[in-house]
Amino acid sequence: MVLQGNPVDGESAPNGISRGEMVAISADRCVGSGLCQAMAPHIFGSDEHGRIAKVLRPRPEERDLGLIRDIAECCPVEAVLIRTTDGQS
Ligand code: SF4
Repeated sequence: MVLQGNPVDGESAPNGISRGEMVAISADRCVGSGLCQAMAPHIFGSDEHGRIAKVLRPRPEERDLGLIRDIAECCPVEAVLIRTTDGQS
């Protein structure tokens, strides 16, 4: 699986994302619906070909972490992944 992602900074948050977790896009799964970019254009953009999503912000602000989790749940192909840096999901 090809992943694009960036670390999520911040202490433990109420939504469960905590220090050491990563937000990534599965390039294998993404179908380029544009949903994540529409919901959070300051966090997600498109790759150089405009076909699939990529994570723009290397360190999203803590206030965005709940939104990132909501987007992960809304992605039609479950391509927005939240993983710990030790490989756990
Ligand atoms: S919502 Fe999912 S399928 Fe749509 S562009 Fe974002 S990652 Fe890709």
